Amino acid sequence: MLFDTHAHYYDGRFDSDRDELLAALPQRGVGLVLCPGCDLPSSRACVELAERFPHVYAAVGVHPSDCAGWDEAMLAQVRALAAHPKVKAIGEIGLDYYWKENPPKEFQQNVFRQQLELARELRLPVIVHDREAHGDCLAVVKEYPDVTGVFHCYSGSAEMARELVELGWYLGFDGPITYKNARKAPEVLAAVPLERMLVETDSPYLTPEPFRGRRNDSGYVYRVAETIAQAKGITPEEVAEITTANGKKLFCID
Ligand SMILES: [Zn+2]
Repeated sequence: MLFDTHAHYYDGRFDSDRDELLAALPQRGVGLVLCPGCDLPSSRACVELAERFPHVYAAVGVHPSDCAGWDEAMLAQVRALAAHPKVKAIGEIGLDYYWKENPPKEFQQNVFRQQLELARELRLPVIVHDREAHGDCLAVVKEYPDVTGVFHCYSGSAEMARELVELGWYLGFDGPITYKNARKAPEVLAAVPLERMLVETDSPYLTPEPFRGRRNDSGYVYRVAETIAQAKGITPEEVAEITTANGKKLFCID
């Protein structure tokens, strides 16, 4: 059984078949899904999906690309949403220096810090989005040694991966590790112990090979598990078993 620890099922690309797709996932080998929000409406939508489907859990938070309107009131609303029993993390939060139209770096860092503080207060793990901001992301999370979680869709170096593992973090892997041009992936997969790996899809984005071009969904997460299995020289079933146990442990799911 696989646990897709990162999928955005509120996305409009699932409007035509969301309920059937989610209901059928256990038959496709995916027994658990965690749906993280990127702003308040999507965080609310994740909680609603988690209420309707027993195998779906939620994370709530404000993504760096969506944080321009961040204020005290927004923080209060994230805190209120996080009180729901099926909310298992604060996320996705972090830093994104890729998009030039994103809020200034210092503003993003401030929003990231306030949500890390919230996670510490609520004793929840966090789901970190780090795009072209590796050094600053690492520096900010190190300010909160009692908060850990997952660096989702990990794209940093093997060296940074080792450091995160040492600090108690998990690393999430997605479709890009299946791409032929994924040069860093073998080195990173070798550096991270299986006990700290999570499998993700980031649906509807990042569809793994050989399905690139299609909309992604959790049913394709087995391709990520197969790629990790190949790198580690074990079976995909072992990867599924261990990464599912990892996800349950990190997100406190029985
Ligand atoms: Zn995401």
